[in-house]
Amino acid sequence: MDNHNQQLDIIVIGTIYVSFEPLVQVECMSIKAGKVSRLGQTAQILSQGQMQNELLQEHLNKPGYWELEIDQTKIIKLNELQMAMPGMIDSHVHPQSGGIQLSRLTIQKYCSWEDAKNAIRNSIVKGEHDKNEWVFAYGYSQGWFKELKQNIQELDDVCPEKPLIIMRDDCHAYWCNSKIFEVTQTRQEDGIYIEEQMNAVRKYIPKLSEIEQQDCLLKGLQHLVKYGVVAFQDAAVKERLFQNYKKLYQNQNYGNQLPYCCMSLCWNDLFLEQTQNVDEEVRFETVENQIKEIRDLNLEKLYCHSVKIFVDGVLESKTALMNVKYCQCSHNGQLMIQNIPQIIEGLNDRGIQAHIHSIGDRATDIVVEAFERIQHKLNKNVINYLAHLEFVSPKAIELLKKLNLGANFSALWFYESPSLSLMPTCLPQHYMEGMYPIRDLEQCIIGLGSDWPVSSANPFDAIEVAVTRQPLGHTQNPIPIGDLKQRITIQQALHYYTEGSAKLIQKPGLGLLTEGGHANFIIINQNVLKIKPSEIHQTKVLSTFIDGVEAYQSQKLEQI
Ligand SMILES: [Zn+2]
Ligand SMILES: [Zn+2]
Repeated sequence: MDNHNQQLDIIVIGTIYVSFEPLVQVECMSIKAGKVSRLGQTAQILSQGQMQNELLQEHLNKPGYWELEIDQTKIIKLNELQMAMPGMIDSHVHPQSGGIQLSRLTIQKYCSWEDAKNAIRNSIVKGEHDKNEWVFAYGYSQGWFKELKQNIQELDDVCPEKPLIIMRDDCHAYWCNSKIFEVTQTRQEDGIYIEEQMNAVRKYIPKLSEIEQQDCLLKGLQHLVKYGVVAFQDAAVKERLFQNYKKLYQNQNYGNQLPYCCMSLCWNDLFLEQTQNVDEEVRFETVENQIKEIRDLNLEKLYCHSVKIFVDGVLESKTALMNVKYCQCSHNGQLMIQNIPQIIEGLNDRGIQAHIHSIGDRATDIVVEAFERIQHKLNKNVINYLAHLEFVSPKAIELLKKLNLGANFSALWFYESPSLSLMPTCLPQHYMEGMYPIRDLEQCIIGLGSDWPVSSANPFDAIEVAVTRQPLGHTQNPIPIGDLKQRITIQQALHYYTEGSAKLIQKPGLGLLTEGGHANFIIINQNVLKIKPSEIHQTKVLSTFIDGVEAYQSQKLEQI
């Protein structure tokens, strides 16, 4: 975007929703210096001079989409189908990993290992990995191996020459060929490394240069903006990523194109070299220093007031901590961390948010019980939340409500998730029915997120599934998942992906359009409140505005 356009005031005329709870609609919004200056009716907002402008008068009667520039003001009139709304806020996402996956071979789209394997073989034959020391692919599904066994010999056949590493779609496992055994001097059955075992491989992965990493981060952020995301919380910021964010957000060339970022510092992996036996006081000190560093930079769009704690693993590795044993297994998962109440209390004492990964129902019970134990010591100015909730016991639901904790859901998972691909082979049937109880938690602060690259970053896919609990586009022969009583309305889903998420990431002003507030909004090709739920995923973002700057614009042709 050139400087010329930045100085322009903007007026948008059309169907404009400024908030979803309550639902408030206006027909005109004016923007000055990156802020919303007026909301209301066109005749009241256009100035005397503009009202007398003949060209504008002529245009105002014209149907369809048009743009007009008069007297340093750009006027955008939406067509009858389009709408404008507050920009999306993703309250749990990993943009740099997403950016890295964008530049790698992705096999997530395949339905079977056979197809995925062919894709990997073809890309090797075509020489796509020739310039790299290792071959990477991203996104195998555990669901492909319900009957089949993962066999390392197949990987060695596909890629005999170089180390090959395939990351599982949930990012919690590597599947490796035998070259990796040679390089790392380690060995896992069938070449599968899960959770902490992954560190043994990670150490040897050829590092992306600083420049390459920053480039991937930028690509990841642009990908979010393309989908209408104007703010997000990065759910696991480690040392190098912390530096990358600092660099990028200080860079004047990109500043006005970037979404607002809140960083959640990764408690479990605060120190790259040494992750075990680090004294908790040292961790608190490190976190405080990093937060202070960001505060002192005083950047417009980069914030840090959150710490991410991994309490358990994931279902696909059977490391999610459950209240029952896994089928054909003698264990019920893994608790990854001790002293949870002390950590949360220590964070809240310092004004820091606890952002918690707990997948299994036992893990979630432990977390909410920890909150209950220290409820009188919690910091009232801090919102603590549990991310991508899956299994929540009735007791935990009551405590989440009573303690007014925040809840983040990856709504696309309500139909399609790494865990679901394995259900019900690893847990009793009733677990499937109780998954993702979003409606039961209505009275909590709820925000939605994507957990991209684990699942698509497109908010409209997630919103559709939150509303239908069906595959995208599905209208007939419902294949419901879980309890259909947990379906939410479109209006609720939009609220959760904007204002709800904004509250979770502690930037409440970003989730709605108010006079004097940030001009963070998107223009989309259809009024999602007026269409069939099964059509929501067809929504296209035409423009994303961040502080009044058009940070993304789709092809002009599509708008008309
Ligand atoms: Zn997680
Ligand atoms: Zn995540």
